[in-house]
Amino acid sequence: MCEICRRDFIGGAAALGAAGASGLFSSPLKAQAARDNAGSPGLPSRLPSRGEFTIANAYVMTMDGALGDIAGGTVHVRNGEIVAVGKDVIGGGEKIDGVGMIVMPGLVETHWHMWNTLFRSFAGDKPEEGYFPTVARFGQQMGPDDIFQSTRLAAAEAINSGMTFVHSWFHNARSTAHAEADIRALAEVGIRARHSCGWAQGLPDTQSADQAPIESLARNWKSWSNDGLITLGMGWRGQFRAGPIKPEVYQPEFDNARKLGLPITLHVASARKAVNQIGLLYKANLMGKDVQLIHALSANPAELDMIKETGSSVSVSPGSELRIGYGYPQISEMLAKGIPLGVSIDTSALTGSSNLFGVLKLARDSENARVESEFRMTARKALELGTIEGARSMGMDNQIGSLKPGKRADLIAISPDALNMAVVTDPAHLVLEATGPENVDTVVVDGRILKRGGKLAALDTSGIVAGARSALAGVRERTKWR
Ligand SMILES: [Zn+2]
Repeated sequence: MCEICRRDFIGGAAALGAAGASGLFSSPLKAQAARDNAGSPGLPSRLPSRGEFTIANAYVMTMDGALGDIAGGTVHVRNGEIVAVGKDVIGGGEKIDGVGMIVMPGLVETHWHMWNTLFRSFAGDKPEEGYFPTVARFGQQMGPDDIFQSTRLAAAEAINSGMTFVHSWFHNARSTAHAEADIRALAEVGIRARHSCGWAQGLPDTQSADQAPIESLARNWKSWSNDGLITLGMGWRGQFRAGPIKPEVYQPEFDNARKLGLPITLHVASARKAVNQIGLLYKANLMGKDVQLIHALSANPAELDMIKETGSSVSVSPGSELRIGYGYPQISEMLAKGIPLGVSIDTSALTGSSNLFGVLKLARDSENARVESEFRMTARKALELGTIEGARSMGMDNQIGSLKPGKRADLIAISPDALNMAVVTDPAHLVLEATGPENVDTVVVDGRILKRGGKLAALDTSGIVAGARSALAGVRERTKWR
C-alpha cells in the first residue's frame, strides 16, 4: 500500500520432510535435488527434484498467441523446462492423466507484502485501526523469525491457490537478517519470486533507508537466488510517503539500486486524490523500463503517456484498492496505451485470503462497473493479466507466463469436479469466475511438482500454520496487544 494516505487514516526444514510423499520422487532424484541447491548455503535443499513427466488429454490454455487453447492437449516437461505442447505430443517420463483438467500457466503475482501476512484481516473499521497504523506499529516488533513465518505462510498459500511467481515487496528490512528470512521462506516453499528489499517500518521520512541489507544481498546474490528461482530488486519509498520526501533522502536510494543494477519498484499515485505524483517522478527522471509503479490510480492522460514513453510497468491490486477506498484502477486506459500491466495481492491484512483468481475477477468486474457495461473487459484478458501480461510487466515473459516449448515449467492443473466449478461451459470464464484454491489440483514450479491431487506435496501445512500462530502470539505479547 502507498503510505501517502497515512495521514488521512491517522493523521524450518521439517516442513519439507515430506518431499516425495506423492511417490513421484525417488531417492536418487531427491539426492539430485540436494545437489541442485548445493550452491546455496543459506538455503534449504529439500525441494522435490525436477523430474520428467507428461500431462496428457487435458484442456490446455497455453496463453500463447500462436498456440491458443488445445482441447485434448499434452504438455511434456523435462528438467524444469517445457519440452513440448500440443495435441499429438507423445511426451515422456511419468504419465499424468489430464482428462477433465484445465491446464494453464501458473499465476504471476506482481506486488505482495508477504511479510505482513501475520496480520491477515487485521486492518480494522476505525481510522486508528486502519492498515497503515496497524502495520507500522506491529511491524516494528517483528524479528527475523516472525518475517520467516509470515512469508512462508503467504508463499504456501500462493502455491496452494495456483500462483507460481510472487513479488515479495519487502518494506520491513529492519536488518540484513530480516531480509534474509524473507528470502529463506520463499526458497523453502520453492516458489519463483522476486524479493524487493526496502526500508524498515517506522523509518522517519527524513532518513534514507539503510542500504546494508540490499548491498549484502546483492554481493552474495548467487547464494540466495535458490538456483535462479529468486531475483533481487529494490522496494523504494519514492518521493512521497506521509508527505514529500526530500531529494537528498530519496535520490541516494534510487541511485544505489541503479548502481547495483537492480529493478526498482515504488508505490505512487495510489489514491485518486494523490495527484501529479507521476508527473513529478517523470520530471526528476526517476522512471524507466527498470521501474515498476504500484497502483498509479490517479494517473491523468498525460501521466499515462509518461509511463508509456519511459517503459515503466504498473501493478494494480483491486482487492486492496477497493477495500481501502483508493478507487478503481485504470486497467483499460493502461492497456489501451500498451503499458505493461500486472495484477497483485498487495496485503492480506486488507484482503484476507490471497486468491489471485478472485483478484483478477475483481479487476474485470471493476472495469465493467466503471462504464456500466457487461462487455468492457473479457475474461480472457483478465487471465492474460494474471499470466503472460503479468510476466511481461515483471520482465519475466521470456521465461514464464505461457505454456510454450523452451519456457520454464511453471504450470497448474485445475479440476472442475467440485460443486463450485462443475459443468464446464466456457473455460476462460469458468476459470476466472469460479476457481478457488480447492480447485487447484496440481502446481508445478520450475518442473517441481509442489501440489498434486489437491495436496501440497512438499509442505507441512499444519507446521506452517502453527509457526505463524506462534509468531503472532509473540508479536502480540511484545506489543501488549490485548
Ligand atoms: Zn503495496
